[in-house]
Amino acid sequence: MDCIFCKIIDGQVPSNKVYEDDKVMAFHDIQPQSAVHVLIIPKKHIPSVNDVQDGDWELFADIHSAAVHIAKELGIAQSGYRLINNCGKDSGQAVFHIHYHLMGGEQLGPLNIK
Ligand code: 5GP
Ligand code: ZN
Repeated sequence: MDCIFCKIIDGQVPSNKVYEDDKVMAFHDIQPQSAVHVLIIPKKHIPSVNDVQDGDWELFADIHSAAVHIAKELGIAQSGYRLINNCGKDSGQAVFHIHYHLMGGEQLGPLNIK
């Protein structure tokens, strides 16, 4: 399967990894849009949240738990952060393997960017 994030999970494509467990992996975004910009992904290939099947919803607890862990590790838990998922065309989703953007490390702009 030609999925860049699956290749990162497999180690075929290098990444700056910040977290890994049996279900979830996280690495720094290659084009950071904030001082801290980490991508958190499930190891299971699911194109978007629209494609999640019954039985896989626990992945989102795993992802959110990893996000809090990473925020603490990177020292932004107290200053604050955003956890963002893009789903589909209007959101600008570019990589069709579920991922959450963990962003912080500075004062972020408004959410209603168009
Ligand atoms: P999306 O727009 O799909 O929500 O976000 C995709 C993100 O993946 C973008 O922020 C982009 O910079 C990041 N990205 C795309 N390819 C790679 C890659 O090969 N390595 C890393 N670390 N990030 C990537
Ligand atoms: Zn994938």
